[in-house]
Amino acid sequence: MVKAKAIRVHELGGPEVMRWEEVELGDPKEGEIRIRTTAIGVNFIDVYFRKGVYAAPALPFTPDREAVGVVTAVGPGLTGGKVGDVVAYAGNPMGSYAQEQILPASVAIPVPPSVDHKQAASVMLKGMTAHVLLRRVFKVESGHTILVHAAAGGVGSLLCQWANALGATVIGTVSNEEKAAQASQDGCHHVIIYTKEDVVARVKEITSGKGLNVVYDSVGKDTYKASIECLAPRGFLVSFGQSSGKPDPIPMSDLASKSLFLTRPSLMHYTATRDELLESAGEVFANIANGVLRVRVNHTYLLSEAARAPADLEGRKTSGSIVLIPDT
Ligand code: NDP
Repeated sequence: MVKAKAIRVHELGGPEVMRWEEVELGDPKEGEIRIRTTAIGVNFIDVYFRKGVYAAPALPFTPDREAVGVVTAVGPGLTGGKVGDVVAYAGNPMGSYAQEQILPASVAIPVPPSVDHKQAASVMLKGMTAHVLLRRVFKVESGHTILVHAAAGGVGSLLCQWANALGATVIGTVSNEEKAAQASQDGCHHVIIYTKEDVVARVKEITSGKGLNVVYDSVGKDTYKASIECLAPRGFLVSFGQSSGKPDPIPMSDLASKSLFLTRPSLMHYTATRDELLESAGEVFANIANGVLRVRVNHTYLLSEAARAPADLEGRKTSGSIVLIPDT
């Protein structure tokens, strides 16, 4: 029986409920592969599951969804993948904070040799989210003026760089000067430090009162009202996360006042087919190769110390992405 160490959650709660323990893995069944993990992406989904914001998997569970590794075994009858392949994934229902892990082969994405493992672990969930938000949920084009909240965050950094390359005027919000400097480097034409400046007033000033084509809002409770206020008539509010808590229900009349659109997308619904998944991943890898995306791996922790990562993420102490490296 193959055994591996993993972070396990036996009860819902804060980072203190994360335990580092041995798990029996077994062999992959039909349609599955097993990989030795080399790098793991840290995402807010860990926080949401562990705290019960999203319905959590059955207890005990291994947190998060995103990692990269080398295939160590393939299930019976599987074609199109072999031991030794380097693959990444963004949607493993069995979790990702593990030295070795089983996953459905259908979620495994081949990683090009030019992309290092820490980078790949940062752009599966976060990078494909940026692709889906900018190219499919709302198609950003040259001439659009857009707002990205948490512009120095994992998803935010990628959104700003990509939107800039698409020709949009990009406005980002951040909490402090250090994050503002990063957001500017990532292509934000205007950065609003929301702890010092009024977001709605600044957006009015920047757009000469016209408002925005789209707001990408991952912060939720603290920001959605301002996001709506900042939109131009027929603008889009793309609410894709709730780092500050779930937004309150939005009355239809709030949309009617400017004929607004509201959507609440999830990556998994936009990468539900194998073709969609590979297209999204392909766009991300291509934009790393052509220099549009610079992947900022700003924080690296040992897997055994994984509890530090979500604590820092929730505490707004991080920028760019956080990666866990399995202990040797
Ligand atoms: P980030 O790196 O963006 O971290 C969160 C950032 O949000 C903080 O650094 C902070 O930036 C800002 N923030 C503002 N208010 C709060 C608050 N009260 N608590 C914590 N953070 C706050 O995280 P990720 O890049 O991992 O994820 C960004 C968002 O994208 C998350 O909401 C996540 O759920 C969502 N997401 C959604 C997906 C989907 O399919 N819908 C897929 C992937 C991610 P600052 O200091 O500048 O305020």
